[in-house]
Order: sequence, then C-alpha cells, then structure tokens
Amino acid sequence: MTARSLIVAGNWKMNLGLAEGLALADALAAKTALLKSTRVWVAPSFPHLEPLARRLQGSKVVLGGQNVSWERKGALTGEVSAAMLLEIGVQFAIVGHSERRQLLHEDDAMVARRTTAALDQRLDVIFCIGENLAQRDGGETEAVLERQIQALLDLRSHGLTKLIVAYEPVWAIGSGRAATVEIIAEAHARIKEIFRSKAQLPDVPVLYGGSVTPDNFAEIASCPVVDGALVGGASIDKEKFTKLLELAEPQSLGHSR
Ligand code: PEP
Repeated sequence: MTARSLIVAGNWKMNLGLAEGLALADALAAKTALLKSTRVWVAPSFPHLEPLARRLQGSKVVLGGQNVSWERKGALTGEVSAAMLLEIGVQFAIVGHSERRQLLHEDDAMVARRTTAALDQRLDVIFCIGENLAQRDGGETEAVLERQIQALLDLRSHGLTKLIVAYEPVWAIGSGRAATVEIIAEAHARIKEIFRSKAQLPDVPVLYGGSVTPDNFAEIASCPVVDGALVGGASIDKEKFTKLLELAEPQSLGHSR
C-alpha cells in the first residue's frame, strides 16, 4: 500500500474554452468526491481561473496557475503575481515548464526566482525539471537535474515544504513516449537525494510528467519514489483523466506498491 496520497495534476496548457473547462471541472469535482486519497490539481489558463475557482468552491479539486511572477507587483506586462492568484483561491503554480524554458527562454535563474517568490507568498509550487534528448543521449541527465535544482537552492535552501518537483524529461512530453520506469525511478531517487543532502528535505515529493496515460500510469505509479503525475494531453480528456485518478487510488496501487 502507498504510504501517502498521490497528486495527479493536470496542466491544461492553452487548451479548452471556458465552457469546456467548466464542464471538465464539474466532472472532476464529482469524481474527486468519490476518491479516498488522491489529490486532484488542475492548472487552466489564467483567464479561466476565477470562474473555475467559483465553480469548484466546496470541491476538493485544487486550482493552479501555469506560471507565476518573480515579483510581487510592478511594471511587468503579461505577468501574474502570487498574490493575484491567491486572492481568487488559487493554491499552486507550475513553474519552469519545459515549454516556457524552451520557447520563452526562461532560464534556471528566472525559474528559481519565480519559485522562491511563490513559496514566500505561500503558494505550492510544482517546480519542473528534466533533460532534453541530446542531454540524455550525452549522459548528462544527472548533471542537468543537479544544475536546475542548484539554481533554486542558491536562492533558497530552507522553507521548501510547499515545493513539489516534477521530473519531466523533455523528450517524453507530448511525444507519446513516456520514460521507462527504470529511468523514472533513477531520476526521482537522485532528485530526492539532492534535496535530502543539500536542503535537509527528507522526502521531497516528485511527480513524473511525460506522456502519462491510463495505459502506462499503473506501472509508473507503482514505483515507490513516484509521488504522482503531472499530466498534459490526458488531463483535458475527461475519460482519460478520471481513469488516472482511479489508478492513483490506494486500492489500485495496493496490488503493485
Ligand atoms: C506536460 O506538458 O507537462 C506533460 C507532461 O504533457 P504530456 O502529458 O502531454 O506529455
């Protein structure tokens, strides 16, 4: 049996109109009410957060932003502060997603600053790290993970209890090619070890992200160092996402974990 509840977090990215998002939220709220322990988090687009927060009031579905600013306020066109998110009932933010790192050139230092600002203001943070294909093929995976984590620890090596890491190998995101359980287990164990030795965090939660589907999630979730999943494509499909929630429940995991 799993020692603790898993987090299944959906990153809706720039998908779903408002009506579609509300309908999916209704389905998730109904499903979540039936779950024993799985924690259900979703990150819709910024404009939809407030109506979804209203709709999900009283449910156990937790809302998050897909990013958050490194500043509390100011002349930062297009940015959204942690306080703005908290004010409307948002409880977490995804930071450092590889799409932002690659397409918008967010570097390790910026990701670290966003993360610390959010943690300072009491948001939970899903801190995304992971190697690209060239780095994996070049044997650099561990060095990349260490560098990405060290940038955060350079700014903050304490007060990390609201930090959740997402290990997302870039080559597995949206590719239909999830990492193997061996790769996931090795990376998660290393991430946990880095935080244990450098930040005195005994067991930082680590989610896996990258082409998670109902077909592969049972095996991935059975790995003891996996604390849940960050899900893109399958999170905007009601059947697939609700199936993932079922698979994360203790009675499903009990057979394998
Ligand atoms: C992601 O973008 O964080 C992600 C894991 O996407 P997908 O599940 O579609 O690979």
